[in-house]
Amino acid sequence: LLYCRNVYIVCLAPLQRQARNKSTFTFLLTSSWCILTNYTPTTKLFIDGKFVESNTSEWLDIHNPATNEVVGRVPKATDLEMLAAVDSCSRAFQSWSETSILSRQQIFLRYQQLIKDNIKELAKLITLEQGKTLADAEGDVFRGLQVVEHACSITSLMLGETLPSITKDMDTYTYRLPIGVCAGIAPFNFPAMIPLWMFPIGMVCGNTYLMKPSERVPGCAMLLAKLLQDAGAPDGTLNVIHGQHAAVNFICDHPAIKAISFVGSNQAGEYIYERGSKNGKRVQSNMGAKNHGVVMPDANKENTLNQLVGAAFGAAGQRCMALSTAIFVGESRDWLPELVERSKTLRVNAGDQPGADVGPLISPEAKQRVEFLIQSGVDEGAQLLLDGRNVNVKGYENGNFVGPTILSKVTPDMKCYREEIFGPVLVILEADTLDEAISLINKNQYGNGTAIFTTNGATARKYTHEVDVGQIGVNVPIPVPLPMFSFTGSRGSFRGDTNFYGKQGIQFYTQIKTVTSQWKAEDATVTSPAVTMPTMGR
Ligand code: NAD
Repeated sequence: LLYCRNVYIVCLAPLQRQARNKSTFTFLLTSSWCILTNYTPTTKLFIDGKFVESNTSEWLDIHNPATNEVVGRVPKATDLEMLAAVDSCSRAFQSWSETSILSRQQIFLRYQQLIKDNIKELAKLITLEQGKTLADAEGDVFRGLQVVEHACSITSLMLGETLPSITKDMDTYTYRLPIGVCAGIAPFNFPAMIPLWMFPIGMVCGNTYLMKPSERVPGCAMLLAKLLQDAGAPDGTLNVIHGQHAAVNFICDHPAIKAISFVGSNQAGEYIYERGSKNGKRVQSNMGAKNHGVVMPDANKENTLNQLVGAAFGAAGQRCMALSTAIFVGESRDWLPELVERSKTLRVNAGDQPGADVGPLISPEAKQRVEFLIQSGVDEGAQLLLDGRNVNVKGYENGNFVGPTILSKVTPDMKCYREEIFGPVLVILEADTLDEAISLINKNQYGNGTAIFTTNGATARKYTHEVDVGQIGVNVPIPVPLPMFSFTGSRGSFRGDTNFYGKQGIQFYTQIKTVTSQWKAEDATVTSPAVTMPTMGR
């Protein structure tokens, strides 16, 4: 409780929730304790290997999206604290970058086991602060864990290249080397997975890391930091700060920081890309999305409708790879009534309640925005086939819930199509041909993900070759690549040159040194000095 608010949250929050449903006594006991001690748990900073309370006067409340109760507070770190964090990273870099790759690998091998051992606790923290269902929260941790597991193969991933005998007795080889202090700025929607896209890959390459989790969901990142410390990461190799714009500006401007990984909205991502790049840093910026699912009339109807429902409404649509838009081609449009019926069966509830399929949105503002965009669709002529506004979740009347919503007869000029909704809303367009569907998608500003549902290989091949989107699923609704590949959003969904994780992730976090050496067979005795430019044997 003294070093980390997670202990409090993990132990007491379930009690409080249970109390609301079952035992007034327990609830009173817990509440009285909090009132008597006047205690709202605070999120610590993680600086130089210590979990420390911030000295700031500026704090932000963290809410449980299912109830809007305050479950903690997060500081806006002061300038001094942020400087201390980056100085700690800089100091640690001297020894960490020289630590053998096998030792770094061992730490991450222990780390992946600790994440596995604590997956349930990590998931509980995600559900408490982010709202998604416990099962989905475990999936969030699991997909991050896969990146950590991948980081453990660093001994192969960081291999350089060699070309022997480019001329007589001369060889050229490259090393991949760390670049220095790196930083990560994360969004709210994947509190485990996205931080785990960032610091494990950066650190295993020999960099030290400054992490800024989303100020709305910092709890899981703090537990991940604690587990990394337990795995043996030396003090200062990972520092965690909290805050909003000032923390982001600090990261973009501090000269010791060499690279920034960002995931979040376009508004923040474009800004961070511009500001960080202007300051000479590498920046990779994964941003917003409008992912289209194309339904061909020859698709397997049963699979397609189920996958569409799951991908549109799972995580309350708060996934950058959610299928938020469907294009029904030809007669497949006759399946719409069945799609609506299946969507109605999803249970909207608090994420920790048994059987919950769709949890709450992150904040009342997010709910208001989603409802506004639904109404804008209606006002502009779309047909509301299923309306999730005014959904009543018993016992959680103050939560930010919106039920599955389907808007059909949507056209590309409508606001609900142009903007990323980031809620459980599926907008449906219709097309007569595959070409028409492809043309629609290629005109959309985003290029994050897409899926086609078909049983025809030729249709699938044509689609995958002609659609201008980074990640494509063929009968796979959310094609987030496993970490031996990279996350390859493109166009308006990405700024930068090298993507997250996979080979590209290693490239992002390393620089290359090229050595050309000549060791003459005749014992390196130079008979006379060469005064002309070496021509490499030509
Ligand atoms: P967000 O942009 O509001 O916040 C992300 C981070 O940026 C946070 O740490 C926040 O503190 C900071 N931030 C917010 N506004 C800022 C500003 N104006 N200037 C500087 N920094 C700012 O994003 P979010 O709401 O947390 O996450 C949802 C968004 O993230 C959606 O648009 C979603 O599509 C996107 N996302 C993209 C991917 C991807 O891989 N493409 C993955 C997950 C989420």
